[in-house]
Amino acid sequence: MLKMLNQPAEKDERYYHAYLSHHSISRRGLFRGVLGSAEKTFSVKSVRSVPRPPFAAKEELFLTACTGCGDCVKACELGLIQLENQKAILDLSYASCTLCGKCAEHCSTNALHLAFNADTELRPQFNSNCLYHRQQPCTDCQQACPQQAISANLSVDNERCNGCGECQLACFMSAIQLNLTPLAA
Ligand code: SF4
Ligand code: SF4
Ligand code: SF4
Repeated sequence: MLKMLNQPAEKDERYYHAYLSHHSISRRGLFRGVLGSAEKTFSVKSVRSVPRPPFAAKEELFLTACTGCGDCVKACELGLIQLENQKAILDLSYASCTLCGKCAEHCSTNALHLAFNADTELRPQFNSNCLYHRQQPCTDCQQACPQQAISANLSVDNERCNGCGECQLACFMSAIQLNLTPLAA
């Protein structure tokens, strides 16, 4: 019996049930313990291919936990969240994310949770429209960044950047595109 419980599939199932049964966890440490173990023991890693709201669980866990209830969609006053294939996705085409956390506060399944990264995993990339790259002076994106993540030569500090999207909106040349850059596990 003990041997059976040590098998990865059994372990995954136990952690999964533990995770789903702790919807109203109040102690952050316990939550992290359960989730940390679950994330490590899920056998197949799933790479994120679409942007999720900030505070999302690792992709495989997110796909398991998100029921497509739409509570986060309603909670986001900026209208940044939609459902695609019954899972929450983030769209920063027309507004930036304030990282206010309301989407996570309203997620009853913990697919989004404030204990997870306050990061959309989107990072800016500059295209040939960029005035700086045409040797013209422009610091609009640098000044707009609330994280001071963009340097004078337009390199982006991935640790400081949280993928809010302010820089993209600030660029009147449409020189910035936000690319999904999944964080290291
Ligand atoms: S509130 Fe949570 S479970 Fe519901 S759609 Fe949003 S992420 Fe998914
Ligand atoms: S953190 Fe706030 S602004 Fe960003 S997606 Fe969630 S509810 Fe919307
Ligand atoms: S570089 Fe700054 S403004 Fe742009 S997405 Fe990152 S944190 Fe937001």
